Amino acid sequence: MTDHDVIIIGAGFGGMGAAISLRRLGYDDLLIVEREDDLGGTWHVNHYPGLAVDIASVTYSYSFEPNPGWQNWFARGSELKKYAEHVADKYDLRRHMVFGVSAEGARWDEDEQHWVVTTSPVDGPGKGVTTVRTARFLMTATGFLSQPRLPDIDGVDDFAGTVIHTAKWDDTIDLAGKQVAVIGTGATAVQLIPQLAKKASALTVFQRTPIWVTPKNDFRIPKPVQALFALQPWTQRVARAANSAWLEGMMVTAVLHYKQARFLNNGAAALAKAHLRRQVKDPEIRRKLTPDYSFGCKRPTFSNDYYPTFNAEHVSLETTPISRITPTGIVTADGSETSVDVLVLATGFNLWDSNFPAFEIIGREGRDLGKSWRQSGYHAFEGVSIPGFPNFISLNSPYSYSGLSYFMTIEVQMRHLERLFAAMADWDARTFEVTAKADAEFLQHMLERMDDTVFLQGSCATARSYYYTNEGDAVLLRPTSSASARRAVESFPLEDYTFE
Ligand code: NAP
Repeated sequence: MTDHDVIIIGAGFGGMGAAISLRRLGYDDLLIVEREDDLGGTWHVNHYPGLAVDIASVTYSYSFEPNPGWQNWFARGSELKKYAEHVADKYDLRRHMVFGVSAEGARWDEDEQHWVVTTSPVDGPGKGVTTVRTARFLMTATGFLSQPRLPDIDGVDDFAGTVIHTAKWDDTIDLAGKQVAVIGTGATAVQLIPQLAKKASALTVFQRTPIWVTPKNDFRIPKPVQALFALQPWTQRVARAANSAWLEGMMVTAVLHYKQARFLNNGAAALAKAHLRRQVKDPEIRRKLTPDYSFGCKRPTFSNDYYPTFNAEHVSLETTPISRITPTGIVTADGSETSVDVLVLATGFNLWDSNFPAFEIIGREGRDLGKSWRQSGYHAFEGVSIPGFPNFISLNSPYSYSGLSYFMTIEVQMRHLERLFAAMADWDARTFEVTAKADAEFLQHMLERMDDTVFLQGSCATARSYYYTNEGDAVLLRPTSSASARRAVESFPLEDYTFE
C-alpha cells in the first residue's frame, strides 16, 4: 500500500495537465505538491509590471479548455492566473493540492516497487521538518523557468538600495522619481522596461546580449468576438489554428528547420530589423540593439513598446560590460559609475545547475538522475521517461519543449501519459520503464534532427541562452515540427516500455 497512487510535483499548467490526464484514466488518489502558496506556476509567481504572455492566448491555452473570455489577444498575467484557477476548479484539482510544501528528494524503492518522496514546508513553524510519502508513480512538473538566477557580478550583495529579481517582484515598491537600473534584456525585461520607464526619473538598461524583437499584434478582443467564441467554439479553433500555423513558421520551422527553410529565418530577422528601424531614431542605439547572432539562437520575443522606450531622454542603453556593483551604483569596464536607487535583476532563470531535475531523484540501483544527466549527457525518451527510473514521468525533460507553445508540449505529454497508462491497465501491470534501446534511438533521432537547426547551422556563437546546457549543447527544444511531435506520441510502440 502506498500513501497515494501518484505524486505530482508542481501545480502549474504542466502539473495540472498531468492531473487532468490521470483523472481521465480513473486515478483519483493524487497528491499535487506545490512549493508556492497557490496554483498557476509561473503565472502565480510572476507579477512584475507589464507581465503578459507573448504567445497569443488562443494558442497559449489547453486546446480542450478554450477560454472565449480572453480580454486581450495576448493575455495579461492576471488573466492567465485566473485561467489556471478556472481549470483547477473545473477539473476539481484543488482538493489534490498542498501548497507551501517543497519536494526535497525522491527515491525508487525497488523492494516495495514504489517512490518514496520527501517533502518539507517552505515556511512557518514546520519549516525544515521533513515528511515522507510514498506513491506508485512520480511525476515532476517543476517548470523550466522556476529557479531565479542571480548574476555573479562582484559586489551585488553589497548594494545598499533596493534589489529585486523579476520573479520576486514587490508590488509595493515605489519607483516614482527613482534612478532605476535593469540588468538583462530577455523576454521579461522587454515587457518590464517600458513600464519602468513610465515611473523612473532615470532608467539605465544594462545589456549584455541584444534580443530579437518582432512586432506584437496585440489588441483588446471586442465583446462581440468573445461572444462569438463562446457561441461558436469552432471560430476560436480556427483562430487557434491560424495563429499556431503562423508561429509554427516563425518560431519552429525558421529555427528548427533552418537548414531547409533559411528563408523563413532570414524573413523573421528582416521583420525584426525593420521593426527596430521604424521604432528607434538614433542609429547608434539601433546598432546596439541589433543582435549579431541568427534569429532563434536564443528565444526571440514580441513587443511594440520596448524599442520606442529607448527614444526617451531619461532612458539609456549601456552595453559596456559591468565590472562591479557598489553600494550606490554600477561600475562598467570603462570605469564610469551609474548611480542607482533600485536595481532590477531581469537575469532569468537557472536551468542547468538547479532545475534538471529540480530536486534529487534516485532511481534503480541508486542512479542519481541529475548526476547521470550531467555526466553522461541529457536524454529522455520522447521528453518524458528515462531508463532506470520506473514509474517516473519527468515533464521538464531534455528534448521535450516545443518551440510553438508550452501548451503544445503539455498536451503531447498528456497524450503520452494516457497511452502509457492505458497500456498498463490493459496488461494489469504495476510498473513501467522505458527500454534503454528506445531511449537511445530517440536520442539518436534528436541528435540527427538537431543538425537541421539554427543551433548547428546558424551563427549562434555570441547568443547566450538557457537553451544551452553548461556544456553548450542545445538540448531543451525538441528539434521537430509540432505535427511530427503529435504523430510520434500517437505512434510510439508500446513495446518501447517494459511492463511488470
Ligand atoms: P533570459 O531570457 O534568460 O534573460 C536574462 C537576461 O539577463 C539576458 O539578457 C542575460 O544576458 C542577462 N544576464 C544574466 N546574467 C547576467 C549577468 N551576469 N550580467 C549581465 N547580464 C546578465 O530570462 P527572461 O528574460 O526572464 O526570460 C526567460 C524566458 O521566460 C523567456 O525566454 C521566455 O521563454 C519566458 N518568458 C515568457 C514570457 C511570455 O510572455 N511568454 C514573458 C517573459 C518571459 P545574456 O543574454 O548575455 O546572458
